[in-house]
Amino acid sequence: VIKIDKSGLYYPNRIAHIYLEAMEEVMGRNGLVAALRMADLAELIDNYPPANLERAFDFADYSALNGALDEIYGPRGGRGLALRAGRASFDRGLKDFGALAGVGSAVFGRLPLGTKLRIGIPAMAKIFSQFSDQYSTVEDMGECYVYHIHKCPVCWGRTSDRPLCFAAVGLLQEGLKWLSGGPEFRVEETSCVAMGDDRCSFQIAKEPVR
Ligand SMILES: [Zn+2]
Repeated sequence: VIKIDKSGLYYPNRIAHIYLEAMEEVMGRNGLVAALRMADLAELIDNYPPANLERAFDFADYSALNGALDEIYGPRGGRGLALRAGRASFDRGLKDFGALAGVGSAVFGRLPLGTKLRIGIPAMAKIFSQFSDQYSTVEDMGECYVYHIHKCPVCWGRTSDRPLCFAAVGLLQEGLKWLSGGPEFRVEETSCVAMGDDRCSFQIAKEPVR
């Protein structure tokens, strides 16, 4: 069983609710039950947090859930599931958060791709900064964007010799696909707190994958 000291930093219940539903979608109920037991969160079996905005889901619990995927399925299998669950969690509801409302509009849909990214990527970061303790910022590096998560719930309290935050990669990939209207973008985690870096950073290519 994975035990991580509580962080005192929180996601709103709704984000945890969406992520648990997404995990169930990609792993099946039995897989999710095993992951919840492994993460020392058996009390959440068939008892998800309510879908409200109260900041009550500790980053340590979110990290333990992600760690459970690696424990149960191995690093490769866990990585694939975390990517898929991250993508599904965006689809299942993160796109409905306030700051992205305008991004889904018909007017936004007619903007050039570069403009969509320039507006949409910071809008995604703003959602997390506003609704949770996951303070996130975006830097325009010319060739690419870099999305920084300064307090990261995916790897909180875990250590690794390689980046761990695939749930965030999947979420960003699906978010980029949605806000650009279809194309896929390469997203790579280039620094990770679990590796000793001071924040988790994700490089986002400005050109879609061909
Ligand atoms: Zn991280």
